Formats: sequence, structure tokens, C-alpha cells
Amino acid sequence: MNKTYPQRMCIVCHQMFEKRDLVRVVKSNDSTFCVDTTGKMGGRGAYVCKNSECHQKLKKTKALNKAFKCLVPNEIYEELEKKCKTQN
Ligand SMILES: [Zn+2]
Repeated sequence: MNKTYPQRMCIVCHQMFEKRDLVRVVKSNDSTFCVDTTGKMGGRGAYVCKNSECHQKLKKTKALNKAFKCLVPNEIYEELEKKCKTQN
């Protein structure tokens, strides 16, 4: 019996993870960014897994900027990393 959970792709390593193993970043309709811990916020989302390797790469390559095709503030990158660390 394999229960299937919704899966999303990490924008850094391009692997599929269950949603709870990812951190979501949302760009809302008024073009502000935030780290969505509830998974319920509206807007366009991008997912990053919780591997520290991915977070290092994410910052280095500014992968969020590419995912959203615009400039994502540094605070978001920092918040993401913090969220990832506190959840481990
Ligand atoms: Zn990843």
C-alpha cells in the first residue's frame, strides 16, 4: 500500500519531494515575496528542498530570481535558509 502524497520539484536540484519536505516561496499579486510556511498563500510559488547543499546553491546561483524571472530580495534568501535550519 503506497499512499501518494502531492509532490513538487525543488528548483535547485530538480528532484521531486513531498510538499512537507520543501519550503515554499510565494510571489503575491502585488509582487511582494514571502516564505510561505502554511502552504496556503495565494500567488505564484517556487519550492526548495531542505538540503543545505541546495540552499548554498540557491544563494550562489540566485535560483529564485530565475524561477520568478525577477529580482528576489536577499531577505527572502536569508529567511528561507533560516526556516530550513529551524525545521531540522
Ligand atoms: Zn533541492
